[in-house]
Amino acid sequence: MVKPCQYCAKLSKIRYRIQFDSSQRWLLVCPDCWQKLAVDNPFYRYGGTWKAK
Ligand SMILES: [Zn+2]
Repeated sequence: MVKPCQYCAKLSKIRYRIQFDSSQRWLLVCPDCWQKLAVDNPFYRYGGTWKAK
């Protein structure tokens, strides 16, 4: 079952659990957003990978 990326809302089978800003919220994002949000980002933290079953 695919689920929407919490950043761009695109459906994705793999999502990464990350923090990317000072709010310290955890979001599940698709690989595209993960690449964009992680680069040169001092707030980036990785919290695991979610895979569709
Ligand atoms: Zn996305």
